[in-house]
Amino acid sequence: MAFDPSTVRAEFPILAQSVNGRPLVYLDNAATTQKPRAVLDASRRYYEEINANIHRGTHHLARAATSAHEAAREKLARHLNAADSAEVIFTAGTTDSINLVAAILTLAPGDEVLITALEHHSNIVPWQMLCERSGATLKVVPCHDDGTLDQDAFHALLSERTRLTAITWISNAFGTVNPVHEMTAAAKAAGSLVLIDAAQAIPHLAIDVQALGADFVAFSGHKVYAPTGIGVLWGRRAVLDALPPWRGGGEMIKEVTFEKTTYNDLPFKYEAGTPNIEGAIALATALDFVNGIGLTEIAAHEDFLIRRAAEGLASLDGVHLFGPVGRAGALSFGIEGVHHYDLGTLIDQMGVAVRTGHHCCQPLMARFGITGTTRASFAVYNTGEEVDALVVAVAKAVGILR
Ligand code: PLP
Repeated sequence: MAFDPSTVRAEFPILAQSVNGRPLVYLDNAATTQKPRAVLDASRRYYEEINANIHRGTHHLARAATSAHEAAREKLARHLNAADSAEVIFTAGTTDSINLVAAILTLAPGDEVLITALEHHSNIVPWQMLCERSGATLKVVPCHDDGTLDQDAFHALLSERTRLTAITWISNAFGTVNPVHEMTAAAKAAGSLVLIDAAQAIPHLAIDVQALGADFVAFSGHKVYAPTGIGVLWGRRAVLDALPPWRGGGEMIKEVTFEKTTYNDLPFKYEAGTPNIEGAIALATALDFVNGIGLTEIAAHEDFLIRRAAEGLASLDGVHLFGPVGRAGALSFGIEGVHHYDLGTLIDQMGVAVRTGHHCCQPLMARFGITGTTRASFAVYNTGEEVDALVVAVAKAVGILR
């Protein structure tokens, strides 16, 4: 480990507090991450120094805000190794990005959308809505008992009817890391468009969209130390240029008459209305923060945490861990005779914040015959001591609840 998590931790003011008289142990990072001072300062500085509406202003502030917003787009493009910064569309987050793609695709009866058993509701429901609208069929790649995808079934389900394949890179429920490069290559070879849900990948992995080879990549800023309400849809230029616009309004037009409107070029074609200017700037700052530490170092640290947590929890009586060894970010578990909600509530009283429930993955929970799990999820600022505090809290809670 090339960095000291306690130094990193000091950059996050929210983590210094106590909850129920105990130091806060925040292990709900897959739901949202906390924000470092640099990001908080970037948001504040934007409003204190350059706030103005962007793109059409001639005055000083409008030009300053426009150039900061577009510099953020350039930074995002570099972070993702996009061939063209116009491929970076700012959205409200992963859900918004996926709904955008689902709205602009035209499918017909006989066409298929292929998703997987591990998807978050936001990578299921927009496709169901598209299928309802178009008469296309939704197909689902099943998973094995260890929470990995059944690759044989995936290959068997791919066909010339598959128009869109949508896969999560990392499962928010089980931490499963899917082999998205291989799956993308297979889906592309079958003639399908490919969307990768990178909501859980963005804080843990380097994403090179050119190496990935997908057509769309979606993620949210708030999972990677940036504010809520900002996210990205990266879309391959040749694909997005050929697709229709989505929301109509200001910014997405070239010329409007009552008879006819012509549409703007990428990325503005998909950015109708005043965007989240401060959010885009803060997201770029969050990526600077992450890159300042190094994604490889962060991944190694989080791997250390998750393995320590897995080992500690597995040593407790009646604990079942979901997901494969090699999981990233999130560790889900169940305990015989203990309801996850009761467990979560009780360990919160000991200062430990985890998430309980279905994690927006009800079909996955149904596949395992459960209503939910307890999920601890990790970030750059978590420490080995916090993992130990989690294990102690769970052991105590189980003693009380059983
Ligand atoms: N996809 C995955 C894998 C997620 O973990 C999440 C959020 O938890 C989402 C999609 C939805 O993200 P958002 O609510 O930021 O749009």
